[in-house]
Amino acid sequence: MNFELPKLPYALDALSPYLGEKTLEFHYGKHHNAYVNNLTGLVRGTKFENAKLEQIIKEAEGGIYNNGAQVWNHTFYFFGFSPDGKREPLGEMADAINKSFGSFDQFKEKFSKAAATLFGSGWVWLVKKDNSSLEIIQESNAGNPLRSGLKPILTCDVWEHAYYLDYQNRRPDYINAFWNILDWDVISSRF
Ligand code: MN
Repeated sequence: MNFELPKLPYALDALSPYLGEKTLEFHYGKHHNAYVNNLTGLVRGTKFENAKLEQIIKEAEGGIYNNGAQVWNHTFYFFGFSPDGKREPLGEMADAINKSFGSFDQFKEKFSKAAATLFGSGWVWLVKKDNSSLEIIQESNAGNPLRSGLKPILTCDVWEHAYYLDYQNRRPDYINAFWNILDWDVISSRF
């Protein structure tokens, strides 16, 4: 099968208490998995049947785009976490954050605000532009910056299904917790 749910590099309870086991059971085990299954059904008999997700994100429309982007986005999101990673940017990544935002704290504040104020469901992204500078962008629904030619570095899922079991309506509490589980070894390697 072309599209599969990737196995996470940590146990479902490993990010607790920041993201609980029930959240991972549903968000990864049900939602992420459903996007994989939906996509598999939708591409059958189309030109995207054997396509890479990146091609789907750049070229597809409607349900194929939405489900393909959601598969990619969730894999990218979940693989940015670890129970015991480096919690601050490293090397060139740290330099680029300081250059674009002033400091890591100022970056966190700006990214958190973008995540808190995104209306409805969507994703907040840290992206790298062609000139190696960094930018924070908000995307609604399944939006993915690859479609605009930008390189994703970090993302935060602000759909309610990402935080409702742990934090109910308190999205800012989820965003505060998010910083405690990021693995900057992984994220810095994407820069
Ligand atoms: Mn999600």
